[in-house]
Amino acid sequence: MNILHVCSEFFPLMKTGGLADVMAALPAAQRHLNIDARILLPGFPGIIKQVPNKQKVTEINSFAGKVTLYYGIYDTIPLYIIDAPNLYDRPGSPYHDQNKNSYNDNHIRFALLGYVACELAKGCDSFWKPDIVHAHDWHAGLSCAYLAANNYPAKCVFTIHNIAFPGMFSPHHIRELWLPESFYNIEGLEFYGQISFLKAALYYANHSTTVSPTYAQEVLNPRYSHGFDGILQRRYQEHRFSGILNRVDENVWAPDKDPMIAQPYSVRNLRDKMHNKQALQQELGLPFSPDSPLFTIVSRMSYQKGLDMVLQILPRMMDAGLQFVILGQGDPHLEHGFSQLAYKYPHNMKAIIGYTEPQSHRFIAGADILMVPSRFEPCGLTQLYAQKYGTLPLVRRTGGLADTVIDCSLEAIATNQATGFVFNDSTTHDLSNAIHRSLILWKTQKKWRQLQKSAMAQDFSWNTTALSYVSLYNEILYKG
Ligand code: ADP
Repeated sequence: MNILHVCSEFFPLMKTGGLADVMAALPAAQRHLNIDARILLPGFPGIIKQVPNKQKVTEINSFAGKVTLYYGIYDTIPLYIIDAPNLYDRPGSPYHDQNKNSYNDNHIRFALLGYVACELAKGCDSFWKPDIVHAHDWHAGLSCAYLAANNYPAKCVFTIHNIAFPGMFSPHHIRELWLPESFYNIEGLEFYGQISFLKAALYYANHSTTVSPTYAQEVLNPRYSHGFDGILQRRYQEHRFSGILNRVDENVWAPDKDPMIAQPYSVRNLRDKMHNKQALQQELGLPFSPDSPLFTIVSRMSYQKGLDMVLQILPRMMDAGLQFVILGQGDPHLEHGFSQLAYKYPHNMKAIIGYTEPQSHRFIAGADILMVPSRFEPCGLTQLYAQKYGTLPLVRRTGGLADTVIDCSLEAIATNQATGFVFNDSTTHDLSNAIHRSLILWKTQKKWRQLQKSAMAQDFSWNTTALSYVSLYNEILYKG
């Protein structure tokens, strides 16, 4: 079976969040199952420069002019790369300029990704053709519309990694993108008077998924759907929408062989985790605190992640003598808020504003508790990484967080199932309660160790999820 994943990120060449991690791990896991999974990516500088021995596949005439399609292999994964320097050769984020303004030609930059996916499905590489085009997030969403406009030369699966980004543009672009004008329709890609690449995908894909079963249920509800509940409920009733959980790339996130952390460790020598805590505290200029827990957050700084609530309760945590370190970037107000507090509490807190992969490993390995108090969370990966590293997650019961962390209720502790701390509502009250509960558990180190062991023993390998996608592909291909 030939699968073409279409997306805008791929770890380690281009990453702004969890999408990149998934796009490296899922195709690799599928290839282990003898699926010929390949990826189509825009030729951003980080991608085009770091893939060695690329070969030219063909030139394609598109609405963006003539572009060149390359083929190369990165770390065993076959990649197709669209070379269109006028669109993609820009430093930094793939989505916006240095002032965080979206590029005003984003509709062309990402429509081209979908257009080329469809050209591959039509056979523009004479050696390989996908049976299924699997598009990810709005950037790849128009793949589904181009496939529909061409009578589906391949079947189409779409995965929502975050519904909060609908990919909206003015409707007058539809002609410019070589799509039939009839597609600008409520039964098509029209969404509240605009074009939405995400709506196009949900409308035209043969099947849509999202990245956890709970989030799949939540987005049927207007509270979480960002306006897409109508189309999603329809697809759900037609059995064309479901949730499949993301997992951990154990080649990248494994505490016993992680070259980025101070001291590798495993469940058998958990005491060595303490060296990572000490090293992190030293790196950040904080006093070593073996007797009190070190809290951390590694995250995009956005309203979604509930970090404003953390800002509100931090002064109380600091006054209680706790330690907290955050690695993140995003919303300038949040960046400023955390930096200000770190300035005020130099012995208890550190805020690193930035995005550094090795540091994210050191934060997760060195901390005792990783907080993910998200208002919504399609899957979330850091709480999975934390569990692998024996760092207990403290999360809100939503989306993939609800599916992957088992709260330390008395029953769960008694049966050795608990893996973290889960709270219900997006309020500082519930968040503070969860922190309080974690501090109580910390006092009984024997129980704490048991939670760490249960967390580290969770099976978060990609194999199960890769198999779920394969059965979905089979269903679509063979049952129509
Ligand atoms: P999202 O995709 O919504 O940002 P996820 O939890 O799914 O959230 O994935 C986030 C990914 O980005 C993880 O791999 C996490 O380690 C990484 N990450 C987030 N913020 C930073 C940062 N400031 N520096 C390094 N890595 C980060």
